[in-house]
Amino acid sequence: MEVLFSEEQIAKRVRELGKEISADYQGKTVHFICVLKGAYTFLADLARAMEVPVTLDFLAVSSYGKGKTSSGEVQLTKDLDVSIAGRDVIVVEDIADTGLTLNYLLNMLRSREPATLKVAAFLSKPSRREIDVAVDYIGFEVPDRFVVGYGLDDNQRFRELPYIAVQD
Ligand code: IMP
Repeated sequence: MEVLFSEEQIAKRVRELGKEISADYQGKTVHFICVLKGAYTFLADLARAMEVPVTLDFLAVSSYGKGKTSSGEVQLTKDLDVSIAGRDVIVVEDIADTGLTLNYLLNMLRSREPATLKVAAFLSKPSRREIDVAVDYIGFEVPDRFVVGYGLDDNQRFRELPYIAVQD
């Protein structure tokens, strides 16, 4: 597999994002919502790079089934544990691809009345976007290739790779 972003490149970029996000949330507590499973590695590193207090919660969606193309249907398979009303929420995603998953999640979360709602996606594939969804913080932009590692899988494999690799 071809390595697209090395462990060192990722560590540097996530530290930068932590600083950037912290600067935007001075005096506040950031409530991260990690979208399982793909975002677990990014969440763990990003939370540790933050310089303001952080709280965490997790939700899970299934949008892909077994294939590599989005079905367009998003299903919430695990809901949050605590209310987000009045909190400064950042949704932490592995990758913004078509944007369908984030669009679904943002609509759902907005109705629960957080004080603020933003998105941090480790990767973005802008050429694949079907819905114009605002991604406030992006780690890296990637071309239209299927990538794995750093939490991202191919049919549940390769999540443990410490780098991002191109699979096809
Ligand atoms: P969406 O198309 O933006 O709704 O993306 C849905 C989900 O598909 C993402 O959260 C990822 O879990 C997964 N996904 C999209 N592109 C890739 C990829 O290149 N590798 C691994 N998973 C991907």
